[in-house]
Amino acid sequence: MKRLLVSLLVLSLAAPLVAWAEEVVVYSSRKEHLIKPLFERFTADTGIEVTYLTDKAGPLIQRLMAEGRRSPADMLITVDAGNLWQAAEKGVLAAVDSPVLNANVPASLRDPDGRWYGLSKRARTIVYSTERAKPEEITTYEALAEPQWKGRLCLRTSKKVYNQSLVATLIARHGEQKAEQIVKGWVDNLAAAPFSNDTKTMEAVLAGQCDVAIVNTYYFGRLQKKQPDIKLALAWPNQQTSGVHINVSGAGITKHAKHPEAARKLLEWLSSETAQGDFAGLNMEYPVNPQVQPTDLVKSWGDFVGDSLNVSEAGRLQAAAIRLMDRAGYR
Ligand code: FE
Repeated sequence: MKRLLVSLLVLSLAAPLVAWAEEVVVYSSRKEHLIKPLFERFTADTGIEVTYLTDKAGPLIQRLMAEGRRSPADMLITVDAGNLWQAAEKGVLAAVDSPVLNANVPASLRDPDGRWYGLSKRARTIVYSTERAKPEEITTYEALAEPQWKGRLCLRTSKKVYNQSLVATLIARHGEQKAEQIVKGWVDNLAAAPFSNDTKTMEAVLAGQCDVAIVNTYYFGRLQKKQPDIKLALAWPNQQTSGVHINVSGAGITKHAKHPEAARKLLEWLSSETAQGDFAGLNMEYPVNPQVQPTDLVKSWGDFVGDSLNVSEAGRLQAAAIRLMDRAGYR
């Protein structure tokens, strides 16, 4: 009898322990301050613990490949469809079939094969000096190759995946030959050697080195928060043609996930109305979930038509884009 009581006691203790132990392990190249508050809310909502490790996308994908089936990771979060596409291509992500994700994430912002899903939308657009450029001068990415912009353009390095993705979409629209002419035109118009990041590129515009640049809008938002009267503004190019270049940050469940069900719950939760405002808002990005509005600051930049091309094209044409930029002399 005593023994039975003990085992009953053990069983009743063990059951909640098992439930409590539900967890997800995340590898993330999205920065800690952008994911930690969301993981804390997810744990509060569901009781599922989230453990995470942050690093750059390349090393995380390498790590998943090296660890193989021994990997503790259940989910990879990273930025840029080019990186998500690479992770899928290297075989570290598993396809997920989820009606929730399919409803929350528009088809153009996820892998057609379900291996990754966009969770925030970013716009890579043209920023201009309000002192030296007029908004009506700015029409398209392609037009930045015109002689009108000679010595007036600043760009970030072609080594950054954001620009590789942008050029990949130019190839998707125009073919390699025309895309190369456009990129050569950009290089001819450069006022300075390419910069290491979007912020430095905008600082060059502020300093008078150039009049226009191509940047992700959230970097503009960071500068604007520090200097509300900043002499820069965002323009929305290609409104009559392909739309503003759109990319995503996103996530996929790993091929060797030990907690695939909990990982799917987290992925679905991150795409939900509950989480999307913060997931996008903490980085001044746009929610992927059409039911959720961007923050007021982001809205203040105005409405625009975004490119509806599936963002996976950025991955499919990434290698071609890198070779093209090299041929065009874009460093
Ligand atoms: Fe970024």
